[in-house]
Amino acid sequence: MEIANNDVLLLPERPTNLACDVLVIGGGPSGASAAFWLASNGYDTLLVEKKTFPREKTCGDGLTPRSLRQLFDMGMTEPLSFAHKYFGLRTRAFGKELTMDWPKVPGLPEHGYVITRYDLDELVLANTEKTGAKVWQACEAIAAEPKEDHVKILVKDKQRDTVSEITARYLIIAEGANARIGRSLQVKRNRQLPFGLAIRGYYSSPRSHDPYIESQLDIRDENNLLLPGYGWIFPLGDGRVNVGIGLVSTMAKWKEVNTTNLLNTFTRQAPSSWGLSPESRIGEPTGGKLPMGMSSSHLVGQRYLVVGDAGGLINPFNGEGIAYGYESGRLAAAAISEAFAGDNPALLYGYNDMLDMHYGSYYKVARLFLRLMGNPEVLRILISTGMYSKTVMTILLKIMSNLMSEDDIGIAETILKVAAKLSKNIPE
Ligand SMILES: Cc1cc2nc3c(=O)[nH]c(=O)nc-3n(C[C@H](O)[C@H](O)[C@H](O)COP(=O)(O)OP(=O)(O)OC[C@H]3O[C@@H](n4cnc5c(N)ncnc54)[C@H](O)[C@@H]3O)c2cc1C
Repeated sequence: MEIANNDVLLLPERPTNLACDVLVIGGGPSGASAAFWLASNGYDTLLVEKKTFPREKTCGDGLTPRSLRQLFDMGMTEPLSFAHKYFGLRTRAFGKELTMDWPKVPGLPEHGYVITRYDLDELVLANTEKTGAKVWQACEAIAAEPKEDHVKILVKDKQRDTVSEITARYLIIAEGANARIGRSLQVKRNRQLPFGLAIRGYYSSPRSHDPYIESQLDIRDENNLLLPGYGWIFPLGDGRVNVGIGLVSTMAKWKEVNTTNLLNTFTRQAPSSWGLSPESRIGEPTGGKLPMGMSSSHLVGQRYLVVGDAGGLINPFNGEGIAYGYESGRLAAAAISEAFAGDNPALLYGYNDMLDMHYGSYYKVARLFLRLMGNPEVLRILISTGMYSKTVMTILLKIMSNLMSEDDIGIAETILKVAAKLSKNIPE
């Protein structure tokens, strides 16, 4: 590799024409996972990523046991061993505090990690490249045109301003929340369904090594109205903590909410032991959208599949999207492998069934939960009931982080039905 005059690493020149089995757009969790599993299965895979890694990505940086399962399956146990390990969740609301360890779930580790996306995404993408996948950084997919037996994709080399034409048998769209190519191929977000909005900043903190992540469930606006969402403090173990606020769009007047003000209020009210203040803040907070609850449709088309945030797959209960990115990338790789094996592109539609099997009933409950959360009184009842009993809160933690057995799904439905009944008796 050469070094350009302005000290930016100049990446190798790209061929103007290339054919491959699968092209993956995006090098975040969902794209890196899809390319990892495809290349591991022997398919000639090209991943294009418009940024140069390592790069910042606005995120809470929290990995649950569910994410770790996927990362360990991709051989990331050792590369991640330096990351900050945590053992569960400390939650605060209405003046009470509860600390819960991650539940014991067969096949899942009993800890999570907090690690910046700057580090995580670079490590995971490098691991994907080692499997034999070609990775083109600083290369943006600018157009995709599915044909009967291939997809034509135009990829712009952002360092040289040249365009390559790629012919791929199949395409995976892993572009993240603002899926431009996805929208051009008719991926549609259901506007009736809510989405999330979150903001986060880094702070230096004396509790950066805390072995629990923390959440505040009773966040309020300037009129003291309870908001559907939560504040978080995730310790990074390197002198910093990641602090943020996430909200869902079900509340009245949600467009008027100023997330920066909310974050400032949250940091002022956080326990002083975290040391959060304007002086301890590192850089400006940044925010982003969270497409959630399987809110997009047409995730399978002629010769393409959509994964991760581009497909609206974030868990609406807790805003977790990294695990669902890795998982959906892996499912998409499996569907494409079946299409290759059967020499039948129609087998791609099996991806819809896979998503339904893995997330269908859970996300149905989650969407009901989101609707209920729009009513501040139901929200108050749900949170305060949970805070009175560690047993109930531990069940809620299992539900919210999707670490449940089939029986727990029944309990989740019961809790939400009771809340729904209560809400009918409560004036808005
Ligand atoms: C404030 C905030 C906090 C969050 N906190 C957490 C958390 O703590 N834990 C958690 O699990 N989830 C969290 N999430 C959600 C999580 O960040 C996402 O769900 C996750 O990043 C989705 O991965 P992805 O690969 O689908 O998309 P992304 O991570 O967005 O990756 C998409 C990639 O595609 C690239 N790209 C886009 N378009 C093109 C193109 N045309 N050509 C080439 N490349 C392209 C982008 O540069 C990017 O690198 C949070 C989200 C926000 C906004």
